[in-house]
Amino acid sequence: MRFIFATGNQGKLREVNAILGELGIEVVSMKDAGYDVPIDETGTTFAENSLIKARTVCRASGEVTMADDSGLVIDALGGEPGIYSARYMGEDTSYHIKNNNLIERLEGVPDEKRTARFVCAIACVFPDGKELLSEETFEGRIGYEEKGANGFGYDPIFFVPEKGCYSAELAPEEKNAISHRGKALRAMREKIRTELEMESVI
Ligand code: IMP
Repeated sequence: MRFIFATGNQGKLREVNAILGELGIEVVSMKDAGYDVPIDETGTTFAENSLIKARTVCRASGEVTMADDSGLVIDALGGEPGIYSARYMGEDTSYHIKNNNLIERLEGVPDEKRTARFVCAIACVFPDGKELLSEETFEGRIGYEEKGANGFGYDPIFFVPEKGCYSAELAPEEKNAISHRGKALRAMREKIRTELEMESVI
């Protein structure tokens, strides 16, 4: 069985295949499936944006389509950068600059008010109109400097209290086990399993 994932990001595709492979589903990128559909991310929430992307490509392809939308929500900044995480300060601005800008904006904010979370919504849309949605968070705090060389994006400033280190200091498997994307993907796998009436693998 083949599903399309509305992304051009090969890293995401590998992660999705590692988790959905268990159901015998092969997930291919939009481009590899032969579709190049413009998508307007006009939603106001992560869930809306993931649904918009999946619906658009499902309509164009007639195939089961998944999409995700994720970002960093910082409480002391009223939820910024939120759904604009990738576009914050411009798509081409380095994360070193974005991360240091966020640290500067939090100057004087004490530890207990530096709470933040990564959020990931994943949508799966079937050609018959059925829609599945999963959304999970990864809770942490914004630190005072960049630390760690793993991960990507905002990982170097995201302190994970339950691990006592920054997200960029976690090994990939360690991050996957507790991250917003890892949890949302595993929740989606179970929803798809139920939808396809597959037997649970113990
Ligand atoms: P998306 O790929 O359009 O969902 O964009 C998500 C954006 O949110 C990324 O470009 C990063 O800026 C940020 N982001 C999402 N997940 C993570 C993560 O696990 N670590 C660091 N940054 C993340």
